[in-house]
Amino acid sequence: MKNNILDLIKNSQNIVILAHEKPDGDAVGSSLTIYSTLLDLNKTVDIILQDVPTRFKFLKNYDKIQEDTDKFYDLGIILDCSKQSRIGDKSDIFSRCKKTICIDHHATNENYCTINYVVPETSSCCQVIYYLYKDLNIPVDKQIGESLLLGLLTDTNGYANNNVDGKTLKMAEELTTLGVDHYKIYSEALRYETFEKYELDKIARDRLTFYADGKIAYTYITKKDMENTNACEGDHEGLVEIGRNISGVEVSIFVREDDGYRFSLRSNGKVDVSEIANMFNGGGHKMAAGGNFTSNYEETINNIINEIKKRVWYNEWDINNKQAKRLYIKGHSKYSF
Ligand code: 5GP
Ligand code: MN
Repeated sequence: MKNNILDLIKNSQNIVILAHEKPDGDAVGSSLTIYSTLLDLNKTVDIILQDVPTRFKFLKNYDKIQEDTDKFYDLGIILDCSKQSRIGDKSDIFSRCKKTICIDHHATNENYCTINYVVPETSSCCQVIYYLYKDLNIPVDKQIGESLLLGLLTDTNGYANNNVDGKTLKMAEELTTLGVDHYKIYSEALRYETFEKYELDKIARDRLTFYADGKIAYTYITKKDMENTNACEGDHEGLVEIGRNISGVEVSIFVREDDGYRFSLRSNGKVDVSEIANMFNGGGHKMAAGGNFTSNYEETINNIINEIKKRVWYNEWDINNKQAKRLYIKGHSKYSF
């Protein structure tokens, strides 16, 4: 299959790169990696992604990313995207590609392309691409290494997730040897916070509500919060970690209002959150999953919380429980939107 990917690329001239909607560091890093390689092969290439977080603008060719296209292509390469309906594809570009290749790391991938190269149990799409390049003898230089490291760092949350394996760390070591500045990429991708994000973070922290004896944490950000704080796309990234980082929390829920609502779920490993996301039209991995919904906010959130409650062990609400009492006194016993 690996050689078929290369053959298909060699036989195509006009190529478009797509990734999942609301692209994260892994989607952007994968796209810019493939973009550089295709340019080296003298291909005509477009990258079409919408709502790309500006914090990734430090990467070379970030400014080449376009929002849309009406062109026809010999080949579409779709990255970090488990199903066709998740492609950030406003004008049905996918259907204007004669052939398609999907490169991905989601176990739930629906094999919707001509060639589907999916390696589940891999930290990131960037890790899949790196080892694919090694097998195919495709060169990785410092610039490609920077975009690859972006995906590796963001999808593992700085090597903190349980999707990190020996190959992840080996890849980081090899990229560092190439001259990739690990400190710089980490700082740009994960460390620096905008002031707007700091303000959003305060709101999300203040709204944090606990259920099931503190094993479930929930918070949210509205469109109005985004406006009031002047926040932009990407500033809400990582807010789901607030709940997840609290000792005793087994599942953290973060919801963000955009055109509809996007929910993010994070688990400490005991609950498989992809199972829950799947029930609500989403997907993902055991410890990180998410999805969208458009209406019935309260009902949907209640349903999500109830599904999680079925999977965690807890005593019913008990005012003698120290944590429950503390939260009750703080006025956190209810949530509203
Ligand atoms: P996040 O919470 O960072 O948006 O998403 C966490 C993970 O859940 C992503 O890496 C992705 O695998 C998955 N995910 C998020 N939203 C969706 C969705 O709408 N559909 C599917 N299939 N997976 C999603
Ligand atoms: Mn990914």
